[in-house]
Amino acid sequence: MSEINAKTIISAAGCWTKELLSDIPVEPQKHTVFRVKCPKHFPDMPLTGDLTTGVYWRPEGKEFLAGSPISVFDAKDLEPAWNDFEELVWPALAKRVPAFEELKLTGGWAGFYDCNKLDNNAVVGKHPKYDNVYLASGFTGRGLMQAPGIGRALTELITTGSYQSIDISVFDVERVLKSNARPEPYVL
Ligand SMILES: Cc1cc2nc3c(=O)[nH]c(=O)nc-3n(C[C@H](O)[C@H](O)[C@H](O)COP(=O)(O)OP(=O)(O)OC[C@H]3O[C@@H](n4cnc5c(N)ncnc54)[C@H](O)[C@@H]3O)c2cc1C
Repeated sequence: MSEINAKTIISAAGCWTKELLSDIPVEPQKHTVFRVKCPKHFPDMPLTGDLTTGVYWRPEGKEFLAGSPISVFDAKDLEPAWNDFEELVWPALAKRVPAFEELKLTGGWAGFYDCNKLDNNAVVGKHPKYDNVYLASGFTGRGLMQAPGIGRALTELITTGSYQSIDISVFDVERVLKSNARPEPYVL
């Protein structure tokens, strides 16, 4: 245990946030993404999600990436959930895009979503219990997309005391401490 003095502290610890701040329910949630190859390619296909199953896919080079809707807490390892591909992801893909019946699985990987267990939404802003602690966490699978806006907004909050160009106060820490959920129903 060591002590570090700082004027301002920003906790951006991703899925390990709860280990640092026990009142913030952001925890690791294992999520698998599969790589597949299809004889017919659709390079212009947008990121598409099937709302009935939660399966999503998009082109990636000459292949596609497809995500499983099943994400699990307390995972013991990061071995991809290969069974989910056969049982859930492939059937969903083939139902929506008949050409995907012929696809081949070429790879896959798993990682941890930084899941905000309260409502699957980000937790960003000043922690009300401390004078100088800020948070940027809980992006639940959307952290890369949201990062530019979050970085800008948090910089404004810290340097001027309020949001200037983007008001992201809906993600504030207080709502989480008071369990005021702002649920995100569809997590890719
Ligand atoms: C399989 C998968 C697919 C994804 N796909 C997408 C996608 O398509 N689009 C998208 O927008 N997002 C996606 N995400 C989510 C995205 O990767 C995350 O939301 C994002 O990486 C979170 O960034 P972060 O900087 O908040 O946390 P991280 O990138 O997790 O960084 C946290 C850092 O804090 C460090 N740390 C933790 N605890 C401590 C400590 N006590 N002391 C010092 N350092 C510490 C860690 O080592 C780590 O470097 C995906 C995630 C997964 C797992």
